Amino acid sequence: MFRVDAHFDLLCFVYEKRAKGETRVIEKYFYDNWIKNNFNIIVSSIFIDSIFIPEMALRNALDQISCLYEEIAETPEKIMLCKNYIDIEKAEKENKIGILMSLEGSEPIGNDPFLLRTFYELGVRFIGLAWNRRTYCADGIPVCKNLNKQYGLTDLGIDLLSKAKELGMIVDVSHLTDQGFEDVMTFYDMPVIASHSNCRTLTDHLRNLTDVQMKKIAQRGGVVGINSFSLFLNKEPLKACISDMAEHMSHMRSIMGTDHIGLGFDFCSHIRSSLYESEEKDKFDAMNGYDEFWILDKELSKKGFSEDERERVYSKNFLRLYSQILQ
Ligand SMILES: [Zn+2]
Repeated sequence: MFRVDAHFDLLCFVYEKRAKGETRVIEKYFYDNWIKNNFNIIVSSIFIDSIFIPEMALRNALDQISCLYEEIAETPEKIMLCKNYIDIEKAEKENKIGILMSLEGSEPIGNDPFLLRTFYELGVRFIGLAWNRRTYCADGIPVCKNLNKQYGLTDLGIDLLSKAKELGMIVDVSHLTDQGFEDVMTFYDMPVIASHSNCRTLTDHLRNLTDVQMKKIAQRGGVVGINSFSLFLNKEPLKACISDMAEHMSHMRSIMGTDHIGLGFDFCSHIRSSLYESEEKDKFDAMNGYDEFWILDKELSKKGFSEDERERVYSKNFLRLYSQILQ
């Protein structure tokens, strides 16, 4: 079975390791684990750490892309870049890991809309206009403070939506404020994704989606990926566990139906251990990596998700949307 993780902070990790002289990083740290657990399509964010903001954001994003190209050149039999649905089918047929690239926050674009096409030409196919920080395009929810900013998209952010549509990129609303979400719905008429967001009704965090927002995403034919980050799963994050993920997915199903649910785990312990050595790494991910996927599968089965429904959630829903937009 073919599975999709719609949000993984892969390339910032690869960049850090390669900057220290390592090579074949994806093969060494992730490949076996993906193969073993049947995760064949990975959407890698291009996430810019705050130390690079603002001047180095563009350069760091380009470095991350360059690192992926280097990794593919080193292990072409194992990984490939997917720019469209034909590439995704090719990855499946050739039993390779297909990697898609997503800009998580528009900091690398700054206030220069021409750069969107540059990133598109390099293979980036998803754009989230903001991460936890305000950009020239949009406000983002600061995760730890959980503050609802009043601002949504700027003029530039709205212009980028049209540009993204024209190019054939997928817009990701995870991290946007409620006003930002509304602005996307007003100024953009394509299906949208929330690649890594959970349910606000169950865990009252602004990074999570309200039932109304989820309904709007479903009406557009979009997909919401379940996030394994403990803060978005349980009021008491230290108690967050995989059954909370199944609970959130069950709620998503009651609001949107099965066809609009996917996986966007946002695993971050690999980054925490690499970039922030002093942090306790285990408290962030409720699910301890792809190796615990079988537990989620079991929990969903207990919640009454049939095998067919689970297959849709694990791959088909996101793939349906990719096949519509990524030509
Ligand atoms: Zn994120």
